Amino acid sequence: MNRISYITTIILIIFISSCRDDDANNNNNIAEFCPTGDLASRHLLLGNPSGAQTNENMPNNYLLEMDEYTVSYNRDKGIPNWVSWHLSTEWFTGDGNRQDDFRANPFLPSDWYTPNSSSYSNSGFDRGHNCPSADRLCSDNFNSATFFMTNMVPQAPDHNQQIWVVWECYLRYLANQGMELYVIMGNYGVGGEGFFGYKDKIIDGDNEITVPESIWKVAIAIEEGDDNDLDFIDSQSTIIAIDIPNTNDVEAYDWNDPLFITTVDDIESKTGYDLFSNLPENVQSALESKVYQTDPNFTSCF
Ligand code: MN
Ligand code: MN
Repeated sequence: MNRISYITTIILIIFISSCRDDDANNNNNIAEFCPTGDLASRHLLLGNPSGAQTNENMPNNYLLEMDEYTVSYNRDKGIPNWVSWHLSTEWFTGDGNRQDDFRANPFLPSDWYTPNSSSYSNSGFDRGHNCPSADRLCSDNFNSATFFMTNMVPQAPDHNQQIWVVWECYLRYLANQGMELYVIMGNYGVGGEGFFGYKDKIIDGDNEITVPESIWKVAIAIEEGDDNDLDFIDSQSTIIAIDIPNTNDVEAYDWNDPLFITTVDDIESKTGYDLFSNLPENVQSALESKVYQTDPNFTSCF
């Protein structure tokens, strides 16, 4: 190697390694694809269904506001009452991967019971996400937040893996069609039919986790835009309400079987909540009695 090519080689190596550093820095800078701004207020834009508060004197209707989604936690049941979140493609497009790091939520008062990753083991029920992992793939951190056990309910495995997963995917299908959605998932009643049969609770040491009888999810979908969504939602907006018993035998049906399509009015009467309470009364009454017709162009998510 002569002197010139030696120097050229050194310069090239320095150049290439400095490019690598730049790339690494750039990647760090663009790794965050997730929405920004006051995210917590987006999740409750349409209302707080049970009047939950971040108040230790309300342990069974305790508000947990996070950037990723918002929860009303029920300490005595060990599950959320409901979880509410905004959904559009920006939440699930990016460089995040499924983290699978199920764990206790550290943001509850420290002396409260909350399930941990193994609390449902051998119960015959899945750790069923409320806000789905696949709705939060804009970054690893946003995805990881869906694995707090405060986002889980004991869900019959076939309910979770066969029927609910397609319903979750249908909402992302609507987002991919250019919609943005306000989604609330919750549960009511006691007792479900899991892999080992009927159970009304899971015993976790000295604590008990309620197995819900039925699991519901409602969504309002509007064309995506920067408008004030509260003003943009009207009596013509798309609204979907699904309520499916927490049993394994539902795998024989589709999520949108007439058995399971219901109204928000019906879910309000079963839960005692007031959903979408920030919408004007006339809009609520028009929307909450509507029964959804599935998009005929939708075939499958997979
Ligand atoms: Mn699931
Ligand atoms: Mn309402």
